[in-house]
Amino acid sequence: MISVNQAIAIVESSVEPTSQTEYIDISKAHRYVLRNDIVSEINMPPFRQSAMDGYALCLHDDFTYKLVGEVKAGDPINPIVKKGECVRIFTGAPVPDTANAVIMQERVSVDEDCITIDRAVKSNDNIRPAGEQVKKGQTALKKDTLLTPAAIAFATSLGVTEVAVYKKPSIAILVTGNELIKAGKSLQYGQIYESNAVMLTSALIGVGFNKITNYKVADNYKDTLSLLKEIISNHDMVLVSGGISVGDYDFVGKALGALSVTELFYKVKQKPGKPLFFGKKENKIIFALPGNPGAALTCFYIYVQLALQKLSGNAAYTATKLKAKSKSAFTKKGDRAQFLKASYQLDGVEILDGQSSSMLHTFATGNALVYVSEECNSIKINDEVEVILLPIS
Ligand code: AMP
Ligand code: MG
Repeated sequence: MISVNQAIAIVESSVEPTSQTEYIDISKAHRYVLRNDIVSEINMPPFRQSAMDGYALCLHDDFTYKLVGEVKAGDPINPIVKKGECVRIFTGAPVPDTANAVIMQERVSVDEDCITIDRAVKSNDNIRPAGEQVKKGQTALKKDTLLTPAAIAFATSLGVTEVAVYKKPSIAILVTGNELIKAGKSLQYGQIYESNAVMLTSALIGVGFNKITNYKVADNYKDTLSLLKEIISNHDMVLVSGGISVGDYDFVGKALGALSVTELFYKVKQKPGKPLFFGKKENKIIFALPGNPGAALTCFYIYVQLALQKLSGNAAYTATKLKAKSKSAFTKKGDRAQFLKASYQLDGVEILDGQSSSMLHTFATGNALVYVSEECNSIKINDEVEVILLPIS
């Protein structure tokens, strides 16, 4: 059985960024990754801008200036300001070419058509030079940049309307299990409500992937085989839930083998999520996640999220990790590495009750996982522990 770190390394090295490009409206580009550099077609700012509400001065050796006009934001005017003169100006307005500084209005006393400033002003004070952020012809955003709200707004401020990005994968979620029924129906003895599909769907949407199709199959080899065959050929990534363990009615592993999916790993020395399968068929990526909900979600955050980010061009992605003091004590049973459901706050991290792989009741209140390596056997209160923040807030 391989270790957590080996499994992470295998996912990282086996998933290549997609070769497919999408052209999308910049307003829809949140969490996509740029395929090409964006070269600015304009200076930003496009003209010398006032950074303040105040007065644009043509400097001279005196503190008193003659007020000769006004420029508001958006005014397409460029009045002449002679030495010793000023114009009223507002934030974002074009500074007249003949003015060489702006003073904020709080520093000025006004007397009819004259103002007096309360301190010396230096040339270019409070003026944003044209092209201060980026000049026409310069690279504004580099290829492989993750499009955050700031990056999207910056590109839009340069007039960009459409961007070339790494195509996001089409993802199939296949849930397996005779016992599963849809919430809304009444439960019969032996049945449970199916919850992994909505869990994985929410997790996917939460990290920026929304091309999702849901499938369901009973614990039956023939149906599992034919449905898996179809969905592997129709999607870029397949997330199977359940049926990958060693029970007599777990048919996913056998079906993946029959479909010639190359196994990159099966079983990781971890808790929860030991029976995790990761494989590929040509460029299709297949994860078979344990059916236990706590295990499936943990495997999503540690492995699936990593594969998704690499596939969609976010090469710089790593899970958000930090060290924190534990507010809880914990003793590990066995020698597998463990991901513990936890709640991280600035004053430390609390390990939650209910660590069984089937459990969601405390996971539902958590925001982090505490990673306990194979070598570590126990955690004492105030020990420094490794925390993985979940992308949920
Ligand atoms: P399996 O991995 O198929 O052996 O399932 C392990 C446990 O997870 C069993 O208790 C299942 O009933 C439960 N389980 C499997 N799939 C789901 C699902 N989609 N939603 C909720 N629980 C599930
Ligand atoms: Mg099952």
